[in-house]
Amino acid sequence: MSAATLMTGFALLLMWLLASGTLLAAYHRRLLLAWWHEPVLRRPVLIFESDDWGPGDDVHARALHNLADVLAAYRDSDGRHPVATLGIVLALADTARIRETEINAYFRRSLAEYTSVLAAMLTGVERGVFALQLHGLEHYWAPSLLALAKCDSQLKDWLTTPGLPRTEMLPPALQSRWIDAVSLPSRPLSDDEIEAAVSEEVAAFRAIFHVTPTVVVPPTFVWTPAVERAWARHGIRYLVTPGRRYGARDGHGRPVAEGALVNGGHGEAGMMYLVRDDYFEPARGHTAARGLQALQMKTRLGRPALLEMHRFNFIDEPAVAEHASDEIRALLDAALAAYPAVAFLSSEALGRCLEKRDPLWVEQDHHRRLGMWAARVRAHHGLWRWSRLTGLGLAVWVLWIFCARGQDGAGGKS
Ligand SMILES: [Zn+2]
Repeated sequence: MSAATLMTGFALLLMWLLASGTLLAAYHRRLLLAWWHEPVLRRPVLIFESDDWGPGDDVHARALHNLADVLAAYRDSDGRHPVATLGIVLALADTARIRETEINAYFRRSLAEYTSVLAAMLTGVERGVFALQLHGLEHYWAPSLLALAKCDSQLKDWLTTPGLPRTEMLPPALQSRWIDAVSLPSRPLSDDEIEAAVSEEVAAFRAIFHVTPTVVVPPTFVWTPAVERAWARHGIRYLVTPGRRYGARDGHGRPVAEGALVNGGHGEAGMMYLVRDDYFEPARGHTAARGLQALQMKTRLGRPALLEMHRFNFIDEPAVAEHASDEIRALLDAALAAYPAVAFLSSEALGRCLEKRDPLWVEQDHHRRLGMWAARVRAHHGLWRWSRLTGLGLAVWVLWIFCARGQDGAGGKS
């Protein structure tokens, strides 16, 4: 092969790398920029996020006390207990009164009536192991349920059978609060309906807990920009997301994803996003090893590990609840052994650290931040698969070699 052919081949390769890398980077510029702006945590952070707690009987109260006891037995190196944030549902259908009206009107019973559950929540907050987050006035849009119950016997039973109905038993599309799912695809609620409902739920939270909620977790992660604006207007600052917004339900009832969200990112209304996309549900077979793996992955990328852990792990079979407690203990033992610097924060405390870009918590050094950015690109399977064939992959690889290799998970032993 002649030198001229070699030179031509080299020039063509260079042109390909430059052109393909530029095109791919331009196409994914929002995500690439978001990962650059996303704060890099200097310490591993572990948070349990437990949703759906609300009106319930003494079994629920005991479950909360047991969970608090499990968490209170541990501390991080700063003396903080692990925190389970409680995603609070403030009310539930009053089945007796709805039955009296032959499902022509909706009535609710407030969490305030369930004093043993409420006391268990507040005791956990005092002990430093629970943090209260708004999940919703209800885990559904009540007018949708009422309308559908007219022609759906299961829904009618759900709304009228004596006792406390379980929202987990509703069809998934109806567990979403911020859409009208009477027919599918879902339809958006009007701005007036949203404003009235958000105003009502924030007032109910204040009436029960005497504080304004600062963190909200949208039920089933379905919400719209209009809901976000209303939450922001009512003083809520942090929004727990799965790394994307689901704005609607499609014709099959599946959530419809819209765009990517990152930790510390802000929406138009000014709320800060936190990302919770790891699951730790022992009742579904998730083990301590899986929880530790999630913490390792997040720590390697300078991100917090928010583990989703619903109430259903704790309120059904005693053996299932005991198993869940054992897995939490095993995870905390393993996390403290692998990461002596692991920090146990609430999601609100995490949000405050990110908001202030507190140098104690958030990496300021550009060299390390570049390395972490490269690691984040490499960790995104879809993007990295294509990047490797282009100049973008080469650039990321070089950055990773020079800035990230050898930096292993802040505060980790491994
Ligand atoms: Zn929920």
